[in-house]
Amino acid sequence: MTGSLAEGLVCIDCGAAHPLAYRLECERCHGLLELRYDLARLATAGPAAFAGTGLWRYAPVLPIADPAHRVTLGEGGTPLLDCPRLARALGVRRLLLKYDGPNPTGTVKDRSSTTAIAAALQFGYRVTSVVSSGNAGSSIAAYSARAGLRALIFAYERASAPKLLHMAATTPDLVIYQGVYDDLIVHWDRLVEEKLFFDCGASRNAYKHEGKKTLAYEIAEQTGWVPPDVVVAPVAVGETFIATARGFGELTRAGLIPRAPLMVAAQATRANAVVRAFRDGTAIAPLKIGYTVAEGLAAGNPGRKGEWVLRLLREGQGLAGDAEDEEILEAQRRLARTEGVWAGPTGVATLAVLTKLLAGKRLDPAQTICTIISETGLKTEAELPSRAGTAFDYESLRRLVTERLGA
Ligand SMILES: [Zn+2]
Repeated sequence: MTGSLAEGLVCIDCGAAHPLAYRLECERCHGLLELRYDLARLATAGPAAFAGTGLWRYAPVLPIADPAHRVTLGEGGTPLLDCPRLARALGVRRLLLKYDGPNPTGTVKDRSSTTAIAAALQFGYRVTSVVSSGNAGSSIAAYSARAGLRALIFAYERASAPKLLHMAATTPDLVIYQGVYDDLIVHWDRLVEEKLFFDCGASRNAYKHEGKKTLAYEIAEQTGWVPPDVVVAPVAVGETFIATARGFGELTRAGLIPRAPLMVAAQATRANAVVRAFRDGTAIAPLKIGYTVAEGLAAGNPGRKGEWVLRLLREGQGLAGDAEDEEILEAQRRLARTEGVWAGPTGVATLAVLTKLLAGKRLDPAQTICTIISETGLKTEAELPSRAGTAFDYESLRRLVTERLGA
C-alpha cells in the first residue's frame, strides 16, 4: 500500500469532522484537531500494508497523499535496544530503549519534521518556521533545505553550541530569542494565523506531530506486534507523548496489537506543569520557568496539548513523573556506562523518571518497560574532561596498562 488512508480531521473536544486541509483548530469550538484514517482497511491489510524501510514505511497511516511530497533524509527505523545490564541495575525484568539518536539530525524531531515539511509541500507553502530550544530548529531547517524551502528558525539563547552550529549551517534565517520558549511562542503562534509561513511548531499542527506516531508503529513491529506493558515518553508541550499514544490507539483499533501499553509522561522537575496537574488532579497551571539541562523540555506552559496529555493519562490510567537536573545527568552517565548509549539530557529525562518510579514502587518490575530516548548526546554541551596529556615510552606505557588492568 503506497497511498494514505487519511480521511479527515476530527476535533478532540466536540468531535466535529473537517476535511483534509491545512487547518489548525476546530471551526466550531477552536479545539485541537487530530487526523483520522480508514482503520478498517488497515485491519484488512494487516502488517502487509507497510512496505519499504524507515519512517515512510508507515505512509498509509500518515497524512501525505502524494509520494513526491514525502521529503526524506532517512529518518525512522531506529533501534529498539534490549538493555539487560541496565534492567538489572534498575531492578526491572525487561527494559527496552527506543533510541532515536540515530535519526538524521540526532533527534526524534526528525519524525515530525519529515511530515511537517511534506505537508508544507502538500499545501503549497514555500516558507517554514519554528520556535525551538535547538533540536526542532536544526531538524526543521535541515528538512526545509532538503525540500528547497526557506526556514525561519527562532532559537533559544541557551541552546547548546552544537545545536546552534547545526541551525546556522542549515539555514541563513536563524534568529536568537531572549528568554524561554514560553516567552516567544505566545506571539509566534498568533503570527501563524497570518499564513506567512507553514506552522512547524508543536502547539497545534496535526500534520506535523503525526510523524512521531511512527514511534508506536516501530515499537509494535519490533516487538512482533506484542508491545511492551509500559512506554515512558517525554513531555514538553506533549507532541511525542500524544503521537505515541495515538499510534498505539490506532494499532489496537485496527487489531494489529492486543492492547495498548500504559503510558508514562516524563518531565523535568523545573518544567513540570503536566506532572503537577496530574498529581493534584487539577487543570494545568502554567509555570514561570528558568533553565533546565533538559533544554528540549523547558516549556512551562504546554497549552492545550498539555491538557490533551492529561486527558490521555487520566483515560488510560497512565502515570506521570519528573526528575531533577542532577538525576537527569546521573541517568545520562549511567546509560552511557552500562549500555554504551550516549544520549543528551533531554533524551534521558525519561530514564531518570523511570528510575524514580521504580525506586518508589509505582511500577511493577515484572513488566516489560520501554523508554523513549529522544536524542543523541553528540549535541550536548558539557564540561570537557581534562586534556592534560602524558608522553609515553614503552616501559611507562606498559606500566600504566598493567596498573590499570591490575595485571
Ligand atoms: Zn470542536
